[in-house]
Amino acid sequence: MIIYPLSEGSFTVDHTKRFVPFDSERHQLSNRPAGSILVEIQPFVVITSRDIILLDTGLGFQTEQGTLQLHENLLQHDINPMDVTKVLMSHLHKDHAGGMGIRDEHTGAVRPAFPLATYYVNAREMDMALAPGSSSYRPEELAVLNQLERLERIDGEGWIDGYIRYAWSGGHCPFHQVFRIEENGEVIFYGGDEAPQYQQMKSRFIAKYDADGKRAMELRQQWWTEGKDWTFLFYHDIKTPSICPGQS
Ligand SMILES: [Zn+2]
Repeated sequence: MIIYPLSEGSFTVDHTKRFVPFDSERHQLSNRPAGSILVEIQPFVVITSRDIILLDTGLGFQTEQGTLQLHENLLQHDINPMDVTKVLMSHLHKDHAGGMGIRDEHTGAVRPAFPLATYYVNAREMDMALAPGSSSYRPEELAVLNQLERLERIDGEGWIDGYIRYAWSGGHCPFHQVFRIEENGEVIFYGGDEAPQYQQMKSRFIAKYDADGKRAMELRQQWWTEGKDWTFLFYHDIKTPSICPGQS
């Protein structure tokens, strides 16, 4: 399998949950609002013998030319966004789900960013995201995508096409899920925000931003122990996009 990280860069986020681009050569963290944290954003594309698979969809920002940054990043690897066959969503927070759809600047209409792909979303996560009142989600956009024929509402544990394992994990948010893609003896593991950075895999770390921080920490340890031969993909780690613990 071939893996390409699709880095969208670094951003600062404060309590308003707005993501503001951060360029370490031009900006200083101390000039940002108090309580700002620095976050790196990096979806992945995995090419298997059967599929072109996206793992989460980034912030959904557009370039000055009006192209979705995620599309631009795929094109840089000679991948036509129309050729993406599956979009696997760990959860629907806006830094992961922003690029699921494209919003027309003039009409506000939302259409899927990958019209020929099947989107796989945890059913209860979608229901939670559609409920009003959380600044972590974009319910108006998700409501449109939830109507798509090509959106599969999954839950619990199971297989997609016999080689992609999904499992409810529920640490970062109550209905978070993780994925394992298995082909020809290779295993690629995507733990979304429960395995977001290499550094977090190696220490006992309870994150304040997790709904169930203890559970997320225990899952990380379990995966890191079980997955000596897996390739881990880290969504919030541009320096170390992927690693196989048995070889590091
Ligand atoms: Zn995240």
